[in-house]
Amino acid sequence: MEALKQKILAEGIVISEQVLKVDAFLNHQIDPALMQQVGHAFAERFRDQGITKIVTIEASGIAPAVMAGLELGVPVIFARKYQSLTLKDNLYISKVFSFTKQSESTIAISAKHLSAADHVLVIDDFLANGHAAKALIDLISQAGASIAGIGIVIEKSFQEGRTLLESEGYRVESLARVQALADGRVTFLD
Ligand code: 5GP
Repeated sequence: MEALKQKILAEGIVISEQVLKVDAFLNHQIDPALMQQVGHAFAERFRDQGITKIVTIEASGIAPAVMAGLELGVPVIFARKYQSLTLKDNLYISKVFSFTKQSESTIAISAKHLSAADHVLVIDDFLANGHAAKALIDLISQAGASIAGIGIVIEKSFQEGRTLLESEGYRVESLARVQALADGRVTFLD
């Protein structure tokens, strides 16, 4: 998606060879017009797939997921992060290792929002090693729902996420594929 790549080049900050900061338009301040285009781009790729729900993870997945949900006309569920879980009834629960925080957290979705009848599009802001996507897939599988694919705003293609997800048979659609974060510069794969 050209507008997204231009925005990354203009306002993304290369923190290290592993981490890109995009808090000017996605992770802290949000560019609504760009997010609308992001939602449209996801919808274009998954429109005929019979999707009934979108699932993402708080907080940074919510903006692109809501915009895709608006385009596809389906509800959006965001998995919530818990430090500790006191009430475990009626929740699907999984653990996720956070790439940016380098710590493990528990995520959950209420069972009342997802069922075996659902066909789900997973959306997240970044794909690195695939831990967040795998945890979301775990939650969706607990509900017995099926998965149409995984929509990613920014994929870091030099990390393992896509390979892992594709090896398990999932369709991965990324709107920007970062080839490298070298010498303080972002380069794209295509
Ligand atoms: P993964 O679980 O695929 O290893 O990492 C994806 C998750 O970690 C995303 O939900 C995202 O929030 C965060 N993340 C991974 N890499 C980056 C990055 O380079 N920049 C930012 N801002 N977040 C990242």
